Amino acid sequence: MSWSDVLGHDVQIDRFKKVVSNGRLPSTFLFVGPDGIGKHLFARKLTQALFCDVNPEQVCEPCGNCPSCQQVISDTHPDLHYVELLTGKTAILTAQIVGGSVKLKSTDKKEEVFPGVCYELNLKPISSRRKVVIINDADFLNETSTSNLLKTLEEPPPGAVLILIGTSLSHQLDTIVSRSQVVSFNPLESSQVKQVLLQQNLVLHENEALELAMTSNGSVGFAVKLLQGNLLDVRREILQVFPGLPDQPEVVSDLIQKYVNLGGDRQEKYEHVEFISSILVSCFHQIALTLSGRENYGDSALLEAADRIHNRWTGDVETVLACIDRTTDTSAHARANANVKTLVEAWVDDLSQIWLTGGFQLTTP
Ligand SMILES: [Zn+2]
Repeated sequence: MSWSDVLGHDVQIDRFKKVVSNGRLPSTFLFVGPDGIGKHLFARKLTQALFCDVNPEQVCEPCGNCPSCQQVISDTHPDLHYVELLTGKTAILTAQIVGGSVKLKSTDKKEEVFPGVCYELNLKPISSRRKVVIINDADFLNETSTSNLLKTLEEPPPGAVLILIGTSLSHQLDTIVSRSQVVSFNPLESSQVKQVLLQQNLVLHENEALELAMTSNGSVGFAVKLLQGNLLDVRREILQVFPGLPDQPEVVSDLIQKYVNLGGDRQEKYEHVEFISSILVSCFHQIALTLSGRENYGDSALLEAADRIHNRWTGDVETVLACIDRTTDTSAHARANANVKTLVEAWVDDLSQIWLTGGFQLTTP
């Protein structure tokens, strides 16, 4: 395998190929972009390319089969080190950066010993020409762990490569950003999410992969969450009742509330509102595509719902945009912890009004 299974990040691949072939690879990178879009896979592919026994480093193309590539794949390469947020912790520990021993839980008898990535990075490489450190969850580097990392960022050992992976620049401390080459990653196209789900055998049926992809916000990770939470059934139910919104606003509102209230705490409720919003927004996008004469792309449930709305509606693209804006607003209010019942009822009522103003034909009783 070369870079071919890294989908949607061709620009970033080209960028690395260029700097590596010029022999000017900087030492510290900060990868930013939403969760679940392949940043970690990209970092590991880059590491394979740097360590590969078959292809020279300048080519920046992992062969995927040699012992070094295989060791990166199986997490056993002696020159590749990882740091990630430990379960139950809210920040990366200082010991993980500079070494030390800590009890991970207050009930633990033994202390866990960490060599520290700064120490590991300063050792001579064992089987490659350089050391690589991947810091996952860079959003969780706090002031203390960052200050311990700064010396290494300022004077990295020769050949060392540090890759920090976070979700957004706003979550990073300035001291990190100013010492890193920032590489931004975008969400994937729905077709790419679908391809990954099928390629990795996460889903066997094409339509199911498409259903997940259409609601994934371009993230394979999010699609997998939907799959694990059996959320496709919820999506199908919503798409079934949603097209009749102005006829039966209370039915739509009750269904949405029922699902949102399954969320145990504030965060989960907010995530559920986000999930419903993304279903509705993707439905509105399909209507906008139809209205502007462009080709639709989506699973049958989504396209049918969009069609049913469009067939009873004389609204234009502006109307669709108003619906999308109103839906996005709801997500923002949910994040700010608004009362679910009031929030959903107002949302459904407003959408209903927008549709009626857009010429939606009510079913006459
Ligand atoms: Zn190789």
